[in-house]
Amino acid sequence: SSLLMSGKRGLIMGVANDRSIAWGIAKALHEQGAQLAFTYQGDALAKRVRPLAESVDSNLVLPCDVTDEDSIDAVFESLGKSWDGLDFVVHAIAYADKDQLKGRYLATTRDNFVRSLDISCYSFTAVAQRAVPMMREGGSLLTLTYYGAERVMPHYNVMGVAKAALEASVRYLAADLGAEGIRVNALSAGPIKTLAASGIGDFRYILKWNEYNSPLRRNVSLDQVGGSALYLLSDLSSGVTGEVHHVDSGYHTVGMMEVDAAPQ
Ligand code: NAD
Repeated sequence: SSLLMSGKRGLIMGVANDRSIAWGIAKALHEQGAQLAFTYQGDALAKRVRPLAESVDSNLVLPCDVTDEDSIDAVFESLGKSWDGLDFVVHAIAYADKDQLKGRYLATTRDNFVRSLDISCYSFTAVAQRAVPMMREGGSLLTLTYYGAERVMPHYNVMGVAKAALEASVRYLAADLGAEGIRVNALSAGPIKTLAASGIGDFRYILKWNEYNSPLRRNVSLDQVGGSALYLLSDLSSGVTGEVHHVDSGYHTVGMMEVDAAPQ
């Protein structure tokens, strides 16, 4: 058929509920004919993720804790039994101790630093290691990042450091995998009210600030992130790799907005 993703199969990692960015991306891919598999973290989320997966005609729903190498291995073993190839992976996973997503970065503990970087950065590389052997020419890997990697944002702290490392790893992976025709990119999404975001201090203020100070004068929706992900995961972006693409209503381009930009 003429759908953008028909005949393509991919793994979606990081759906917690219907407000997850991974879910927004999954819907956009499904609408364009992609066949999807999902991972979820922990039994508690299984009963959230299964019905969502079913609603997009997927019954491949697998547990995965990315801190556990065996758990990641098991996902790709199962996938290999059901599918003879893989076209894309969406990695929408991050974690930092909530108590350190407020106040000063200076207070970050070693334990939280190591855990945050492990889950939020290294896991993308660990997943790529398993995904690549299943991928063909034209494969696409996508992760999610945030502007706090590039500039200081209040309360983002160790997550900013983790995202900076993640964005660097996108470039290194892109260079490693380019010869195999596999692309690696990141979407830098503007703030969206999700479960993970609710752990960040003063998040409501951050949302308002972005709304008032973005060229488009609004926050981004899950559908908008889904649309941009679709581009990076489809052959429309076959000339794009190692890129960090901003889906943030243009916020990252602004030094200062006109005083009257905020709604009166
Ligand atoms: P979310 O809470 O819906 O998703 C986060 C996911 O990470 C959850 O599904 C959770 O289960 C998973 N996760 C955490 N630790 C894990 C582990 N050890 N093993 C497996 N999975 C684990 O929130 P979200 O905002 O949709 O986050 C998805 C991605 O988008 C994250 O990388 C986040 O940093 C990024 N992002 C979010 C925003 C935002 O404002 N919400 C902006 C830019 C980037």
